[in-house]
Amino acid sequence: SQRLFDPLRQFADKFTAIQAGFTAIERITDILNEPIEIRDPESKILTLQGIAGNGHSPDSSQNTHLGEIRFEHVWFAYKQDDYVLKDLNFTIKPGEKVALVGPTGAGKSSIIRLLCRLYDISNGRILVDGIDIRDLRQAELRRHVGVILQDGFIFAGDVKSNISLGETYPPEMIRMAAEKTNVAGFIEDLPDGYDTQLRERGTNLSGGQKQLLAFARVAIRDPRILVLDEATASLDVGTEALIQEALDRLLEKRTAIIIAHRLSTIKNVDRILVLKRGELVEAGNHEELLAQNGLYASLYKLQMLGK
Ligand code: ADP
Repeated sequence: SQRLFDPLRQFADKFTAIQAGFTAIERITDILNEPIEIRDPESKILTLQGIAGNGHSPDSSQNTHLGEIRFEHVWFAYKQDDYVLKDLNFTIKPGEKVALVGPTGAGKSSIIRLLCRLYDISNGRILVDGIDIRDLRQAELRRHVGVILQDGFIFAGDVKSNISLGETYPPEMIRMAAEKTNVAGFIEDLPDGYDTQLRERGTNLSGGQKQLLAFARVAIRDPRILVLDEATASLDVGTEALIQEALDRLLEKRTAIIIAHRLSTIKNVDRILVLKRGELVEAGNHEELLAQNGLYASLYKLQMLGK
Protein backbone atom coordinates (compact mmCIF):
# COMPACT_ATOMS: atom_id res chain seq x y z
CA SER A 1 0.00 0.00 0.00
CA GLN A 2 1.51 3.29 -1.11
CA ARG A 3 0.74 6.32 0.96
CA LEU A 4 0.89 9.74 -0.61
CA PHE A 5 1.83 11.41 2.61
CA ASP A 6 3.97 9.37 4.91
CA PRO A 7 5.94 11.51 7.33
CA LEU A 8 8.47 8.81 8.13
CA ARG A 9 9.09 8.28 4.44
CA GLN A 10 9.34 12.03 3.86
CA PHE A 11 11.70 12.31 6.76
CA ALA A 12 13.89 9.66 5.18
CA ASP A 13 13.55 11.15 1.71
CA LYS A 14 14.98 14.43 2.93
CA PHE A 15 18.34 12.78 2.57
CA THR A 16 17.92 12.25 -1.13
CA ALA A 17 17.90 16.02 -1.54
CA ILE A 18 21.33 16.31 0.02
CA GLN A 19 24.07 16.60 -2.51
CA ALA A 20 27.46 15.00 -2.14
CA GLY A 21 30.11 17.07 -0.50
CA PHE A 22 28.29 18.34 2.55
CA THR A 23 30.35 18.45 5.69
CA ALA A 24 28.36 20.24 8.35
CA ILE A 25 26.50 18.07 10.81
CA GLU A 26 24.23 21.06 11.38
CA ARG A 27 22.91 20.78 7.86
CA ILE A 28 21.89 17.21 8.36
CA THR A 29 20.38 18.08 11.70
CA ASP A 30 18.44 20.94 10.15
CA ILE A 31 17.11 18.71 7.44
CA LEU A 32 16.16 16.06 9.93
CA ASN A 33 14.46 18.64 12.08
CA GLU A 34 12.61 20.33 9.29
CA PRO A 35 9.44 18.26 8.95
CA ILE A 36 9.01 18.13 12.67
CA GLU A 37 7.29 20.93 14.50
CA ILE A 38 8.73 19.78 17.75
CA ARG A 39 11.11 21.77 19.86
CA ASP A 40 13.67 20.58 22.30
CA PRO A 41 12.76 20.93 25.95
CA GLU A 42 13.67 24.34 27.32
CA SER A 43 13.85 23.78 31.03
CA LYS A 44 14.67 20.26 31.99
CA ILE A 45 16.86 18.39 29.57
CA LEU A 46 17.58 14.82 30.47
CA THR A 47 20.25 12.65 29.00
CA LEU A 48 19.97 9.01 28.10
CA GLN A 49 22.68 7.05 29.78
CA GLY A 50 25.38 5.06 28.14
CA ILE A 51 24.25 5.13 24.57
CA ALA A 52 25.70 1.94 23.19
CA GLY A 53 28.97 2.45 21.38
CA ASN A 54 29.57 5.89 22.81
CA GLY A 55 30.92 4.48 26.04
CA HIS A 56 28.72 3.78 28.99
CA SER A 57 28.34 6.38 31.67
CA PRO A 58 29.43 5.18 35.09
CA ASP A 59 25.98 5.16 36.64
CA SER A 60 24.18 3.41 33.78
CA SER A 61 24.01 0.20 35.81
CA GLN A 62 21.52 1.90 38.12
CA ASN A 63 18.99 2.43 35.37
CA THR A 64 17.10 -0.82 34.98
CA HIS A 65 15.06 0.71 32.16
CA LEU A 66 17.92 0.95 29.63
CA GLY A 67 16.54 -0.11 26.27
CA GLU A 68 12.95 -0.16 27.51
CA ILE A 69 10.08 1.33 25.53
CA ARG A 70 6.89 2.20 27.36
CA PHE A 71 3.61 3.62 26.09
CA GLU A 72 1.40 4.83 28.95
CA HIS A 73 -2.22 5.74 28.22
CA VAL A 74 -1.21 7.13 24.84
CA TRP A 75 -3.84 9.03 22.90
CA PHE A 76 -3.01 10.44 19.49
CA ALA A 77 -4.88 12.19 16.67
CA TYR A 78 -3.54 13.61 13.39
CA LYS A 79 -6.69 15.70 13.13
CA GLN A 80 -8.41 17.18 16.14
CA ASP A 81 -10.33 14.58 18.14
CA ASP A 82 -10.01 11.96 15.41
CA TYR A 83 -8.04 9.53 17.53
CA VAL A 84 -5.98 6.90 15.74
CA LEU A 85 -4.48 5.61 19.00
CA LYS A 86 -6.74 5.24 21.98
CA ASP A 87 -5.40 4.76 25.49
CA LEU A 88 -2.56 2.56 24.31
CA ASN A 89 -0.52 0.81 27.00
CA PHE A 90 2.44 -1.51 26.55
CA THR A 91 5.99 -2.02 27.77
CA ILE A 92 8.76 -3.53 25.69
CA LYS A 93 11.49 -4.88 27.92
CA PRO A 94 15.18 -4.24 27.25
CA GLY A 95 16.38 -6.61 24.53
CA GLU A 96 12.87 -7.83 23.72
CA LYS A 97 11.79 -8.17 20.07
CA VAL A 98 8.20 -7.18 19.55
CA ALA A 99 6.15 -7.17 16.37
CA LEU A 100 3.18 -4.90 15.69
CA VAL A 101 0.44 -6.57 13.72
CA GLY A 102 -3.00 -5.48 12.61
CA PRO A 103 -5.10 -4.56 9.60
CA THR A 104 -4.11 -1.55 7.49
CA GLY A 105 -4.93 1.64 9.34
CA ALA A 106 -4.76 -0.01 12.76
CA GLY A 107 -2.05 2.42 13.90
CA LYS A 108 1.22 0.47 13.53
CA SER A 109 3.09 3.17 11.59
CA SER A 110 1.71 5.85 13.86
CA ILE A 111 3.24 4.07 16.85
CA ILE A 112 6.71 4.15 15.35
CA ARG A 113 6.32 7.75 14.19
CA LEU A 114 5.42 8.70 17.74
CA LEU A 115 8.33 6.73 19.16
CA CYS A 116 10.60 8.76 16.85
CA ARG A 117 8.65 11.84 17.97
CA LEU A 118 7.62 12.95 14.54
CA TYR A 119 4.46 14.09 16.30
CA ASP A 120 3.56 14.78 19.90
CA ILE A 121 0.79 12.86 21.56
CA SER A 122 -2.44 14.34 22.90
CA ASN A 123 -2.38 12.51 26.19
CA GLY A 124 -0.29 10.00 28.09
CA ARG A 125 3.46 9.40 28.00
CA ILE A 126 5.99 7.65 25.83
CA LEU A 127 9.09 6.61 27.74
CA VAL A 128 12.44 5.45 26.47
CA ASP A 129 14.81 4.13 29.16
CA GLY A 130 12.19 5.32 31.64
CA ILE A 131 12.46 8.92 30.39
CA ASP A 132 9.60 10.83 28.77
CA ILE A 133 10.80 11.44 25.19
CA ARG A 134 9.55 15.03 25.41
CA ASP A 135 12.33 15.62 27.93
CA LEU A 136 15.03 14.51 25.50
CA ARG A 137 16.85 16.38 22.80
CA GLN A 138 15.73 15.30 19.32
CA ALA A 139 19.29 14.46 18.35
CA GLU A 140 19.68 12.22 21.34
CA LEU A 141 16.44 10.36 20.74
CA ARG A 142 17.49 9.79 17.14
CA ARG A 143 20.86 8.46 18.12
CA HIS A 144 19.17 6.10 20.55
CA VAL A 145 16.43 4.84 18.28
CA GLY A 146 17.64 3.51 14.93
CA VAL A 147 15.11 3.29 12.11
CA ILE A 148 15.30 0.87 9.21
CA LEU A 149 12.71 1.44 6.52
CA GLN A 150 11.37 -0.98 3.96
CA ASP A 151 13.88 -0.01 1.28
CA GLY A 152 17.12 1.57 2.39
CA PHE A 153 17.16 5.06 0.90
CA ILE A 154 20.32 6.15 -0.88
CA PHE A 155 21.29 9.69 -1.82
CA ALA A 156 23.68 10.91 -4.49
CA GLY A 157 27.07 10.83 -2.86
CA ASP A 158 29.82 8.37 -2.11
CA VAL A 159 29.41 5.12 -0.20
CA LYS A 160 31.06 6.36 2.97
CA SER A 161 28.84 9.43 3.32
CA ASN A 162 25.82 7.20 2.68
CA ILE A 163 26.88 5.33 5.81
CA SER A 164 28.12 8.22 7.96
CA LEU A 165 25.31 10.61 6.91
CA GLY A 166 27.70 13.52 7.16
CA GLU A 167 28.92 12.82 10.67
CA THR A 168 32.63 12.33 11.11
CA TYR A 169 33.63 8.76 11.81
CA PRO A 170 37.11 7.34 11.39
CA PRO A 171 37.32 5.26 8.17
CA GLU A 172 38.00 2.23 10.34
CA MET A 173 34.62 2.57 12.05
CA ILE A 174 32.86 2.85 8.71
CA ARG A 175 34.63 -0.27 7.52
CA MET A 176 33.72 -2.17 10.70
CA ALA A 177 30.06 -1.19 10.41
CA ALA A 178 30.10 -2.41 6.79
CA GLU A 179 31.72 -5.67 7.85
CA LYS A 180 29.21 -6.30 10.63
CA THR A 181 26.38 -5.84 8.17
CA ASN A 182 27.82 -8.02 5.36
CA VAL A 183 28.21 -5.16 2.91
CA ALA A 184 32.01 -4.67 3.11
CA GLY A 185 32.77 -7.26 0.43
CA PHE A 186 30.38 -5.65 -1.99
CA ILE A 187 31.79 -2.16 -1.30
CA GLU A 188 35.37 -3.32 -1.76
CA ASP A 189 34.45 -4.73 -5.16
CA LEU A 190 33.18 -1.33 -6.35
CA PRO A 191 35.56 0.63 -8.63
CA ASP A 192 36.46 3.20 -5.96
CA GLY A 193 35.53 1.22 -2.87
CA TYR A 194 34.14 3.48 -0.16
CA ASP A 195 34.67 6.53 -2.40
CA THR A 196 32.43 5.17 -5.16
CA GLN A 197 29.68 7.61 -6.10
CA LEU A 198 26.15 6.28 -5.76
CA ARG A 199 23.26 7.59 -7.75
CA GLU A 200 20.27 9.23 -6.15
CA ARG A 201 17.90 6.54 -4.83
CA GLY A 202 20.66 4.03 -5.48
CA THR A 203 19.54 3.19 -9.00
CA ASN A 204 22.88 1.46 -9.56
CA LEU A 205 22.34 -0.89 -6.59
CA SER A 206 20.13 -3.91 -6.01
CA GLY A 207 17.40 -3.83 -3.37
CA GLY A 208 19.46 -6.11 -1.16
CA GLN A 209 22.57 -3.94 -1.45
CA LYS A 210 20.57 -0.86 -0.49
CA GLN A 211 19.16 -2.71 2.47
CA LEU A 212 22.61 -3.76 3.67
CA LEU A 213 23.90 -0.19 3.33
CA ALA A 214 20.97 0.99 5.43
CA PHE A 215 21.94 -1.60 8.05
CA ALA A 216 25.54 -0.30 8.06
CA ARG A 217 24.21 3.21 8.60
CA VAL A 218 22.39 2.01 11.71
CA ALA A 219 25.22 -0.27 12.89
CA ILE A 220 27.70 2.61 13.03
CA ARG A 221 25.38 4.56 15.33
CA ASP A 222 24.90 1.48 17.49
CA PRO A 223 21.45 2.47 18.86
CA ARG A 224 20.03 0.50 21.76
CA ILE A 225 16.58 0.45 20.17
CA LEU A 226 15.78 -0.55 16.61
CA VAL A 227 12.62 0.20 14.68
CA LEU A 228 12.09 -1.93 11.61
CA ASP A 229 9.43 -1.45 9.01
CA GLU A 230 9.39 -4.87 7.40
CA ALA A 231 13.12 -4.73 6.84
CA THR A 232 13.22 -8.00 5.00
CA ALA A 233 10.55 -7.17 2.44
CA SER A 234 12.72 -6.32 -0.54
CA LEU A 235 14.96 -9.34 -0.63
CA ASP A 236 16.71 -10.43 -3.74
CA VAL A 237 17.84 -14.01 -3.97
CA GLY A 238 21.53 -13.14 -4.08
CA THR A 239 21.52 -11.24 -0.81
CA GLU A 240 18.72 -12.93 1.15
CA ALA A 241 20.99 -15.01 3.39
CA LEU A 242 23.41 -12.10 3.89
CA ILE A 243 20.54 -9.85 4.90
CA GLN A 244 19.07 -12.34 7.35
CA GLU A 245 22.47 -12.87 8.97
CA ALA A 246 23.22 -9.13 9.15
CA LEU A 247 19.77 -8.47 10.57
CA ASP A 248 20.13 -11.15 13.24
CA ARG A 249 23.47 -9.63 14.22
CA LEU A 250 21.94 -6.13 14.29
CA LEU A 251 19.04 -7.28 16.47
CA GLU A 252 21.26 -9.03 18.98
CA LYS A 253 21.23 -7.29 22.38
CA ARG A 254 18.97 -4.52 21.13
CA THR A 255 15.33 -3.82 21.82
CA ALA A 256 13.39 -4.05 18.58
CA ILE A 257 9.95 -3.02 17.45
CA ILE A 258 9.04 -4.49 14.11
CA ILE A 259 6.16 -3.71 11.80
CA ALA A 260 5.52 -6.88 9.93
CA HIS A 261 3.20 -7.04 6.98
CA ARG A 262 3.92 -10.65 6.20
CA LEU A 263 3.10 -12.64 9.31
CA SER A 264 5.40 -15.48 8.31
CA THR A 265 8.41 -13.30 9.14
CA ILE A 266 7.56 -12.77 12.79
CA LYS A 267 6.97 -16.23 14.18
CA ASN A 268 10.20 -15.95 16.13
CA VAL A 269 9.71 -12.61 17.87
CA ASP A 270 9.29 -12.63 21.66
CA ARG A 271 5.88 -11.01 21.59
CA ILE A 272 3.28 -9.87 19.10
CA LEU A 273 1.04 -6.89 19.81
CA VAL A 274 -2.16 -7.00 17.79
CA LEU A 275 -3.84 -3.70 17.05
CA LYS A 276 -7.29 -2.90 15.78
CA ARG A 277 -8.46 0.66 15.13
CA GLY A 278 -5.87 2.15 17.44
CA GLU A 279 -6.41 -0.25 20.31
CA LEU A 280 -4.37 -3.14 21.58
CA VAL A 281 -6.64 -6.17 21.29
CA GLU A 282 -4.29 -9.16 21.73
CA ALA A 283 -0.74 -9.81 22.90
CA GLY A 284 1.36 -12.94 23.06
CA ASN A 285 3.71 -15.06 21.01
CA HIS A 286 2.74 -16.74 17.76
CA GLU A 287 1.55 -20.03 19.32
CA GLU A 288 -0.37 -18.31 22.12
CA LEU A 289 -2.17 -16.05 19.69
CA LEU A 290 -3.04 -18.89 17.34
CA ALA A 291 -4.50 -20.78 20.31
CA GLN A 292 -6.61 -17.73 21.26
CA ASN A 293 -8.24 -18.01 17.85
CA GLY A 294 -8.89 -14.27 17.68
CA LEU A 295 -7.86 -11.49 15.29
CA TYR A 296 -4.26 -12.65 14.93
CA ALA A 297 -5.33 -16.19 14.15
CA SER A 298 -7.76 -15.00 11.49
CA LEU A 299 -5.19 -12.63 9.92
CA TYR A 300 -2.67 -15.44 9.92
CA LYS A 301 -5.05 -17.94 8.32
CA LEU A 302 -6.01 -15.38 5.67
CA GLN A 303 -2.36 -14.84 4.75
CA MET A 304 -1.69 -18.56 4.63
CA LEU A 305 -4.62 -18.98 2.26
CA GLY A 306 -3.46 -16.11 0.09
CA LYS A 307 -0.05 -17.66 -0.48
P1 ADP B 1 -1.03 1.12 9.88
O1 ADP B 1 0.43 1.42 9.88
O2 ADP B 1 -1.43 0.10 10.89
O3 ADP B 1 -1.55 0.79 8.52
P2 ADP B 1 -1.36 3.98 10.38
O4 ADP B 1 -0.67 4.25 11.66
O5 ADP B 1 -0.62 4.32 9.13
O6 ADP B 1 -1.82 2.44 10.34
O7 ADP B 1 -2.74 4.71 10.32
C1 ADP B 1 -3.64 4.79 11.41
C2 ADP B 1 -4.75 5.74 11.05
O8 ADP B 1 -4.24 7.05 10.92
C3 ADP B 1 -5.45 5.43 9.72
O9 ADP B 1 -6.81 5.69 9.87
C4 ADP B 1 -4.81 6.39 8.76
O10 ADP B 1 -5.68 6.72 7.72
C5 ADP B 1 -4.52 7.59 9.63
N1 ADP B 1 -3.33 8.33 9.18
C6 ADP B 1 -2.11 7.82 8.96
N2 ADP B 1 -1.25 8.78 8.62
C7 ADP B 1 -1.94 9.94 8.61
C8 ADP B 1 -1.60 11.29 8.34
N3 ADP B 1 -0.37 11.65 8.00
N4 ADP B 1 -2.58 12.21 8.46
C9 ADP B 1 -3.83 11.86 8.80
N5 ADP B 1 -4.21 10.61 9.06
C10 ADP B 1 -3.27 9.65 8.98
